[in-house]
Amino acid sequence: MAVLVYIESENNNFKKSSYEALSYGKALAEMMKKSLCGIVFNCSDFESLKAFGVDKILNIDNNELKDFSSKKYASAISEVIKSESINVVVLSSSPDSKFLGAHLSGMTESSFVSNVVELPDTIDPFVVKRTCFTNKAFSTTELISDLKILSIESNCFGLVEKLSDPKIENFEIKVISSNQKIKSIEKENGSVNIADAEIVVSGGRGLKGPENWGMIEKLADALGAATACSKPVSDMGWRPHSEHVGQTGKPVSSNLYIAIGISGAIQHIAGISSSKVKVVINNDPDAPFFKAADYGIIGDAFEIVPALTEKLEAR
Ligand SMILES: Cc1cc2nc3c(=O)[nH]c(=O)nc-3n(C[C@H](O)[C@H](O)[C@H](O)COP(=O)(O)OP(=O)(O)OC[C@H]3O[C@@H](n4cnc5c(N)ncnc54)[C@H](O)[C@@H]3O)c2cc1C
Repeated sequence: MAVLVYIESENNNFKKSSYEALSYGKALAEMMKKSLCGIVFNCSDFESLKAFGVDKILNIDNNELKDFSSKKYASAISEVIKSESINVVVLSSSPDSKFLGAHLSGMTESSFVSNVVELPDTIDPFVVKRTCFTNKAFSTTELISDLKILSIESNCFGLVEKLSDPKIENFEIKVISSNQKIKSIEKENGSVNIADAEIVVSGGRGLKGPENWGMIEKLADALGAATACSKPVSDMGWRPHSEHVGQTGKPVSSNLYIAIGISGAIQHIAGISSSKVKVVINNDPDAPFFKAADYGIIGDAFEIVPALTEKLEAR
């Protein structure tokens, strides 16, 4: 009997959101007095996982599972669930994990809830709190099936280190066929991915044009941040669509979100409301974004941003 975490990786590097899923999984396993098992696909370096209390790591080393497929991965994980007598599967909140959760729940006829923000108060009944309506409300949901699948909202639990010396095993599976075949994958440009970023510096139409993005990039460099933008900015082709944040773009759950020259329309706020600290720089004191901000700077972005970057670089 154990808690199982699907540990996402890319080129043998584990994603930060998976360390958070492991931290949650460990705390849950301790509550349930169970062990913590992790499943990885095609990985060879497990060193960093030792910091998160995993008791056993199952590696599925199979070239047919080189690229993510929710159906094939769900089938592989369902074999692990049977063989290891898994009670709870913990996933991160990445798009892959959400697809996987839905597929796995169908395959195993079990309950799946996404966007979980806390540990359950009790194990029986197993009731969790989750965000809903694009983070505007919370819902309390009971999982009633024997096997339970949860995906954890980013940055809600944090990273909790607990040293362990996990047993590492190769797990053999029979790969099922799928009616989809990935022909190629094109990676987005940009040094830091918005979804995994701790800090995001985002610009809106107030920046007047793409030629002014140098100051956004300089501030982002000084902070080690990812860059993002509002919808009109990507619609006008000032920035790539991969940077568009909001209801129709990407959700951002960073620790710090800096919005520069963005008015704060409801569709934009919907995508960033789970970010922890929001800083707004806008020259209109009545901009709606100030209502959602933790810190607000009223003034001209073309003066404030270079001055802020200079101070940060000096530190
Ligand atoms: C169905 C639907 C879905 C949508 N989805 C999204 C979405 O996912 N994401 C999204 O972002 N939008 C979305 N939108 C659009 C949204 O409603 C807003 O129109 C958009 O967010 C506005 O972008 P903005 O804040 O960059 O531009 P604006 O509203 O034009 O705001 C520019 C801001 O810059 C400030 N400013 C101007 N000059 C300066 C300066 N020198 N220094 C500092 N500040 C300055 C202004 O005061 C203003 O507040 C959606 C709309 C619809 C209808």
